Amino acid sequence: MVRYYTGRLPRLKRRLLLKSDPSPSSPATINDEAAAPTVVARDQHPISRANISSNALKVLYRLKEAGFQAFLVGGAVRDLLLGLYPKDFDIATNAHPEQVKQLFRNCRLIGRRFHLAHVRFGYEIIEVATFRAAHTPIDEDNSVDEAGHRVLDERGRILRDNLYGTIEEDVWRRDFTANALYYNIQDFSVWDYVGGFEDAQARILRLIGDPETRYREDPVRMLRAVRFAAKLNFTIHQDTRAPISKLAWMLDGVPPARLFDEVNKLFLAGSAVRAFELLTELKLLEHLFPDVATALQEQPDSAEAKLLRLGLEGTDERVRADKSVTPTFLFAVLLWPAIHRTLMRGPRREGAEYQELIAACESTISRQQARVAIPKRFTLPMREILALQPRFERREGKRALRLLENTKFRAAYDFLLLRAAVGAVDPELAKWWTDIQGLSPEEKLVRVESRPAVEGAPRSPRRRRRRRRPAAP
Ligand code: ATP
Ligand code: MG
Repeated sequence: MVRYYTGRLPRLKRRLLLKSDPSPSSPATINDEAAAPTVVARDQHPISRANISSNALKVLYRLKEAGFQAFLVGGAVRDLLLGLYPKDFDIATNAHPEQVKQLFRNCRLIGRRFHLAHVRFGYEIIEVATFRAAHTPIDEDNSVDEAGHRVLDERGRILRDNLYGTIEEDVWRRDFTANALYYNIQDFSVWDYVGGFEDAQARILRLIGDPETRYREDPVRMLRAVRFAAKLNFTIHQDTRAPISKLAWMLDGVPPARLFDEVNKLFLAGSAVRAFELLTELKLLEHLFPDVATALQEQPDSAEAKLLRLGLEGTDERVRADKSVTPTFLFAVLLWPAIHRTLMRGPRREGAEYQELIAACESTISRQQARVAIPKRFTLPMREILALQPRFERREGKRALRLLENTKFRAAYDFLLLRAAVGAVDPELAKWWTDIQGLSPEEKLVRVESRPAVEGAPRSPRRRRRRRRPAAP
């Protein structure tokens, strides 16, 4: 039975689905009544085709014309409903991947043993997923592990396939109600099985089904809750929020490479400050960045803690201004309290600042890798940015000019500005480096040569000459 949206969703039905059923993803527990969507007709919602990618529309229409069901799903429907422009447009259909492939020349099947169809239009890829059967586990790349879902004969032919399901089954594997809306290309209505339409309008983030079960199935959903709450300015519903601190430890079992992807999404989407606050409140931070959490607990008002916050604010501003952001600088800012703590706990020696910083970076990063695997292409430049900091103290002579030429100068200088802003270095030093960048080569030379040599200033490491072995007699 289909219900039509009349401005109010039947609360009874929602309670039935969302609270009292401990394992709603099991088809056996979905009764006919519960499996009926509320249909929000075109004149009851603001989603206009003018805001949907023309390529996504092409795919939707072609599927429809071939006699299949075709829906825009997930974040795209949610964002359109909120008046935002979606990052990507995902489609769900009852056509099997092989059938999708036959409809589009520009289509590739991806995922473990071909599960998702990617239809390519230049740079834009439209992902088309076949409705999934209940209890189809999703792996990290959002593809499906087919093991155990197919029964093959002795020649490897498929006898039975319970991978694919109906839209009624597909809806239960989705995480939050606002992410489980289906925009139907047939009549431009939105199908809502879980109250996501109302939740999105009220900016409430609510897990489908029993929250604890859903987090246990996939602990990354705890981070997704933080991400959507921060990015969309949603309130996490009390029932969805309550189990998080208790289950936060489950993040320890998530592959560090998947957490790296998730952390990037958390902090590079324009709401890093809010995401960081939520991670701290919900006690997730200590499972992602244990040493940073310790450093911040010990000294919540330290210059390093302030630098982290200021760095995240800067990242958010850059994202909002459509400027580029890199994991390198992000992780330099995020890990700085932990690196600084390691540095302070180790032996200090006059003139060895560079080596000490490198050592503190190395040991902090190697401990960190056990949680969030940051690839070397980001950790190496990050280490360089931090290790260059003592060299800003030396302004006299050609060495200062060489620092200006360093490929990491710009990022290291940005980091210096943060340190100056939080009182970790003299603002006059930062200003000097700001000013010198605007000078001509001759003026630069005059500037560095006019400075008196400083006794005992930190030196950069001198390369040791290798002694030649004496030639054999
Ligand atoms: P974004 O705007 O960041 O892309 P999104 O909601 O589209 O947000 P995706 O990670 O692209 O998020 O996933 C697409 C959809 O797939 C989600 O809206 C959700 O319905 C479903 N999904 C993705 N990851 C999970 C998960 N771990 N558990 C359950 N459902 C998920
Ligand atoms: Mg998406």
